[in-house]
Order: sequence, then C-alpha cells, then structure tokens
Amino acid sequence: MNPILRAFEGPSVPFSVEMFPPKGQLTLDAARLAAQGVAAARPDFISVTCSAGGSGNSSQTVDIAALVQDELSVPGVAHLTCVSATCQSLDEEMERMRAAGVNTVLALRGDLAPGCQPQDFHLAKDLIPILKERGFTVAAAAYPEGHISCLDPRENIRHLKEKQDAGADFFITQLFFDNNAFFRFREQAQAAGVTIPIVCGVMPFLGKGQIQRMIFMCGSSLPSAIIKLLAKYEDNPEALRQAGIRYACEQLVELARQQVDGLHVYAMNQPDIALAAAEALRAEGFRP
Ligand code: FAD
Repeated sequence: MNPILRAFEGPSVPFSVEMFPPKGQLTLDAARLAAQGVAAARPDFISVTCSAGGSGNSSQTVDIAALVQDELSVPGVAHLTCVSATCQSLDEEMERMRAAGVNTVLALRGDLAPGCQPQDFHLAKDLIPILKERGFTVAAAAYPEGHISCLDPRENIRHLKEKQDAGADFFITQLFFDNNAFFRFREQAQAAGVTIPIVCGVMPFLGKGQIQRMIFMCGSSLPSAIIKLLAKYEDNPEALRQAGIRYACEQLVELARQQVDGLHVYAMNQPDIALAAAEALRAEGFRP
C-alpha cells in the first residue's frame, strides 16, 4: 500500500509539509538543505510545487520529490499542473515520474499565463483518471472557502465531489486562517458524499505584504485576530513572523483536536516553520 494512504489509517494525525523547487537564486543544493531541514520534522510526506504562482520553476519538481524519497526516506508528492500540457507532454511527465520512483501526484489545473489558451486539458478532473489509469496515487486540491473564481459555495462542493468521482485518493486544501470555515466545509463535503481524506493546508503569515498577496490569490478570509497581530507588530518584522508561526501552530492543534484527516504545512522552504508545527503537535500528544 502507498505509505501516504497507510498514514491515513494510522493512530496519529498525518502531518506533511509543502516545499518549492529551486527558483531564482535558489540552487539545487539550497533546495536539498531546505528538504533536509523540513525532513527533520519527520513528516509523513513532503509535497513539491510545480511552477506555483506562475514562478515557472516546474522542471525540478520531480527531481526534488525523488531526492526527498531517496536521500531522506520521506515519501514525496509531485505537484502536476495540466492547463498548459498536451497529451504528449503529460505522457512524458508521467514517464519521468515513474523512472524517478515518484508514485504520488497532486493533480492540478494550474493557472494560465495571461493571453494563453488551455491545451488538451481544461480542469484537474480531466487529469485525474489518466494518472489513476497509469497506477499513480492521486491527490487533488480542495477549497474550504471556494476557489477564487468560484462564487457559489454549492458549485465548489460539486467540483470537489467530481474530483473524488474522477478517482482522487485524497484532498489537500488551500490555506485558510479560520478553522470554522474548514469545519463548515467539511460538513458540506460529507453531506455531498465526499468520503476520501481531506488534508488541511495551513500557512503561517510572516508579514503584511505576504498575507495581502495570499488572500488576494486565494480568497481566504482574514480573521480579526490576525489583523490585530499585524497591527501590533507592524514595526517589528521578527516578532510578527513569530506571531504568525504561533498562530499557525494553534490552528494546527485545534484542527487535530477536531480529528481532521491530515495536516499539511506550507513551510515555504523554511525548516523552522515545519519544526515548530511538528513540535506543537507533539507537545499536545498528536505526534509520536
Ligand atoms: P480545478 O479543480 O480544475 O478548478 C479550476 C476552476 O474551475 C475552479 O474555479 C473551479 O471551481 C472550476 N471548476 C471545477 N470543475 C468545474 C466544472 N465541472 N465546471 C465548471 N467549472 C469547474 N498551482 C500551481 O501552479 N502549482 C502548484 O504547485 C500548486 N499547488 C497547489 C497546491 C494546493 C494544495 C492547492 C489548493 C492549490 C495549488 N495550486 C498550484 C493552485 C491551483 O493550480 C489553482 O488554484 C488553480 O486555479 C486551480 O487548480 P485546481 O486543480 O483546483 O483546478
């Protein structure tokens, strides 16, 4: 059985971390160091983004996911976007993943660069069955507060269920800062017949600029508790960063108390975030 799916059946809440591959000034060695640091938190898997936020850094996603598995013995998940892919480029990418021993994929639509048109795939649900046919374990994205371009919450749940029906094995959510939004979403998903695990994605806020970008990119709501922390530590970036990590840790512990299916930390290649999250869960008895 795939070790990630096995973790969903284990006694403690699965804990995982997202990282991004080399981009800009970040070399492969720097990515290796970040992966080593993140792996010290003993996650059940590490997922590796693919050109997230239009960064264009997709060529090393599979290499980093393989590095995580081969050098650090942590299951790796490769993110894969389909909106710019053709059937042929998808075939080649699946071959590359197979050859590298990466068997779990987060199947995504991705976002088109302005002025570009989708190629052979329009939605993530078109990609999922192809990956399943080739024997991959497949995760898909879930949006507790709805995708930024989906205005109707019922449509959001319908799209979620379609991804399960297309063969997804589990979901990982977009980041959210308000746990109650997730609990409402979980209830609606269950009522609609969603039965596969929904892993909660949590990202600490680290600064005002970062949080502004994130909420406009994702449409996640900003609780007043965070607005107050942003105001309180406006002139002290390090204190604000620490407050953001603490807030995320408290969020994770509350989610674990409410018996969510899994916890995924957007650690942004900063090992101290992954370590703080794992430690907070351990201190409350949610991790061995
Ligand atoms: P889809 O599920 O295909 O949805 C796309 C849009 O279409 C949504 O608005 C949805 O509501 C709508 N829709 C879905 N089904 C239907 C339907 N049947 N009829 C009409 N409309 C429909 N992006 C990257 O580029 N790289 C990454 O590595 C990356 N990692 C991510 C990780 C996670 C956990 C998440 C949550 C997102 C990630 N993203 C990443 C962002 C993602 O690519 C974007 O949010 C993208 O806009 C949607 O991708 P999707 O797979 O959710 O698409």
